[in-house]
Amino acid sequence: MPGLATEFESATNKSPSRSGELTLAGGYVAFSADEVARADIQIAGGRIRNITKMGKNQGGYRSGNKASGSPTTVKLSRFLILPGLVNAHDHLEFNLFPQLGRGPYRNASLWAEDIHRSDGDTIRNHSAVPKALRLWWGGIKNLLCGATTVCHHNPFEDEVFDSSFPVRVVRNFGWTHSLAFGRKISAAFRVTPDSAPFILHLAEGTDASSRDEIFTLDKLGFLDSRTVIVHGVGLDQDGQALLSRRGAAIIWCPTSNGFTLGKTLDYGYASKARKIAVGSDSALTSRGDLIDEVKFATKEGGLSPSLVYSMVSDGAADVLRLKNGEGMLREGAVADFIIMAWRGSSPAETLARATFKDIHAVVVGGQLNLVTFPIAGLWPEAMLEGLEPITIEGNQRWVRAPVSELLAATKHHLGNSIRLAGKRVTS
Ligand SMILES: [Zn+2]
Repeated sequence: MPGLATEFESATNKSPSRSGELTLAGGYVAFSADEVARADIQIAGGRIRNITKMGKNQGGYRSGNKASGSPTTVKLSRFLILPGLVNAHDHLEFNLFPQLGRGPYRNASLWAEDIHRSDGDTIRNHSAVPKALRLWWGGIKNLLCGATTVCHHNPFEDEVFDSSFPVRVVRNFGWTHSLAFGRKISAAFRVTPDSAPFILHLAEGTDASSRDEIFTLDKLGFLDSRTVIVHGVGLDQDGQALLSRRGAAIIWCPTSNGFTLGKTLDYGYASKARKIAVGSDSALTSRGDLIDEVKFATKEGGLSPSLVYSMVSDGAADVLRLKNGEGMLREGAVADFIIMAWRGSSPAETLARATFKDIHAVVVGGQLNLVTFPIAGLWPEAMLEGLEPITIEGNQRWVRAPVSELLAATKHHLGNSIRLAGKRVTS
């Protein structure tokens, strides 16, 4: 079935052997939400081979690694290195769309009915953009905000999500759309291996039918420790307790919920849920990208930055049962990083204050897939080959994507005014 693979090695679209050796030297490395230490990170074969913390007695900066100064060393002494973020929920092909709807609606089905009735022209215009193009833009949206792993809630597209796609797309999971729109839920659940999550939209509403969906799911026998529900806004306390008893997990998309339903998860519940990740959902309903969701959860939701940091890094990787060290910086993990300016705050606080403008570089599987001009000069020239310029809301980035080709083909359908998750895109 689509979206499902059984082999551990193909858990995402990225092979770990696509890049050469590289050392990120002397940066402030995020070992957890609150723990930073200066260290050298050696990368080989797309994975972190070694992390060497700086000696405590060293005066001033001196790399702990003899590779410093070699052509494959990038000196990052003024930068903070975080793990690439894990976006637990997106629909990559819907990120050129504007937000559609005039909520709040009582549930997602009413939202869908309304936009198909009221926004038919917009839906037709955007749907005319070939799907492969739209998926690429979804990948770029995630790359720009430092989300290096994305769970795309739709069929896995072998033709598009190949090794040239700029972010990892999770492959190893079972799914259906929802109880209302999902087809063959029984077959989809039963073929999901024990090692993989089974993901569906659930309780996306504030009415009684949304509240009761979890009890229906349980009666059907599809609520267990593999189950991951997206949204869960309509859960009452009994539903929340049942979810927890069954060991199931939840993916939280706060701004999408706010837009469609006028309400999101209770913040107290979100802060106590044991297995929870944050997802950006798509531009059809969300305010922006994954970092915008982090900002909402910490600023408007009042959750601690450390907690939300986990929901987009190691905690999200746990929910998605990722096995290659996604969302953390440790030896043996995939070499996925985001690089931001060092300002003396913890990784969690830095992320909570950030926007996409603060992401200066993104490395995926050891390969530089995004960089800003000022720090491009720190990288070996060979690693910059293949990057193309793109301007988002006036901020130029260099990304590993065929930007000029994508822009020309997209303008053919949508004209010159192209917005990616609400942000203006120019070449
Ligand atoms: Zn969704």
